Amino acid sequence: MNESRPGPRLELAVGDITTEQVDAIVNAANETLLGGGGVDGAIHRAAGPELLAHCRTLDGCPTGQAKITPGFRLAARWVIHTVGPIWHGGHQGEPKLLASCYRESLARADEVGAHSVAFPAISTGIYGYPAAPAAKIAVATVQSATTDVELIRFICFNNDACAAYEAALSD
Ligand code: ADP
Repeated sequence: MNESRPGPRLELAVGDITTEQVDAIVNAANETLLGGGGVDGAIHRAAGPELLAHCRTLDGCPTGQAKITPGFRLAARWVIHTVGPIWHGGHQGEPKLLASCYRESLARADEVGAHSVAFPAISTGIYGYPAAPAAKIAVATVQSATTDVELIRFICFNNDACAAYEAALSD
């Protein structure tokens, strides 16, 4: 770890995370790690059945933590599976758990030497976390993280998510 290194460069893009040409893409998974809807389903479809077979060996993942697998048929060499909190109104530890997802994902990236990482808007789909506070946590957490990751791309699937990141990045 080079303590004098500046933090990661942040980029915002609209699109499908499964086509990202980065070292690692992050999956917004559920605690079983056995696939689901949304971005999780898209990543499993694009990576191929080897990904599910590998995930079966991992014994799930607690909310706020992250586990890493190969990317199999993806352009990305790695998939970092993290489990975001389900939104229950914001008073059940959701912000801390969401921040932990970003920190733990970067820790897994550092462990394998991944220097570029693409994140989806974790928890903001099926798990119901409102886009604006989720984007603020995403940006603030990666900006304050101690990591060797050099490039972080936030991938927005739609314009609402994008506007939330634009606001968070201009704060
Ligand atoms: P969660 O269960 O954590 O809420 P979802 O997959 O339902 O996970 O949604 C997380 C975010 O990922 C949402 O903003 C959703 O629009 C977005 N998303 C869904 N599919 C993709 C994709 N292929 N690439 C990037 N983002 C995606």
